[in-house]
Amino acid sequence: MVIIKSQTELGKWIERQSKTGEILGFVPTMGALHAGHISLIDTCRKESTLSICSIFVNPTQFNDPKDFEKYPSTLETDIDRLEAAGCDILFLPSIKEIYPDGWEKAKRFDLGNLENILEGKFRPGHFQGVCLVVERLLQIVAPDKLFLGQKDYQQCMVIARLIEIMGKKEEIDVRVCPTLRESDGLAMSSRNMRLNAEERNRAVLISRVLKMIRDQIKPGDISGLKSTAAFILAEEGFRVDYVSVASREDLREVDIWDGNEKLVALVAAFLNEVRLIDNMTL
Ligand code: AMP
Repeated sequence: MVIIKSQTELGKWIERQSKTGEILGFVPTMGALHAGHISLIDTCRKESTLSICSIFVNPTQFNDPKDFEKYPSTLETDIDRLEAAGCDILFLPSIKEIYPDGWEKAKRFDLGNLENILEGKFRPGHFQGVCLVVERLLQIVAPDKLFLGQKDYQQCMVIARLIEIMGKKEEIDVRVCPTLRESDGLAMSSRNMRLNAEERNRAVLISRVLKMIRDQIKPGDISGLKSTAAFILAEEGFRVDYVSVASREDLREVDIWDGNEKLVALVAAFLNEVRLIDNMTL
């Protein structure tokens, strides 16, 4: 694996490598890599001829500065894991490389209602920050395929929208890959590293309430099921941002289910300082 830190160097490397029929697959991450990230690399390698992973902890997507400061960093192990997974290129840009002119006067992206609901509502500015960094990374890497995790369901929708705004819908194939879970069901996340042993055991409840919703949902009024799920989490000491059951297409909240519409259940909740998110399609 080669490690590349600048856009110019990356451009030269890709040009040198590229032959006709090359399929460039890209997995953007913020590091602190776990098996979930590696599963994206595996899929990327299967579906591409050249695999690129980026690690960049993007300051503009953290609405809470403390969350940014405490974001885990495990670069040495990340490099080992990517090597072992057979990734071809690790792109490790500096803040200056991504934001040469800073971000004070950064442009805004029209994300429609996606910005006002769920993660958009509880993390103001978060998706604008995601779009800033992903737009820049896509310009630099120019991939044919982009591999994202369903773990960040709404983010996948935002990035699909960004690609539309960039006019690159025909050029970039977005692949949404399944969420990898620990054996007890907890969705893998870099933020899990910040949980102590007791919190880690409790954290599994998020996936359990999602399964409860999946198992118990029936056509008709489903608002009671959502409140029960939120109540169970609150009883166990979670600070719940939302428990939502929404249309898979556009994340419109669903309270009365006709039994046909394709749904996704989504949860965001804090365990002490650590904010966890998860979702399940129903
Ligand atoms: P992050 O480093 O958290 O920005 O995540 C980088 C990519 O990995 C995103 O596309 C995430 O959705 C994806 N990802 C994070 N956790 C998981 C997981 N447990 N399973 C699969 N993909 C994941």
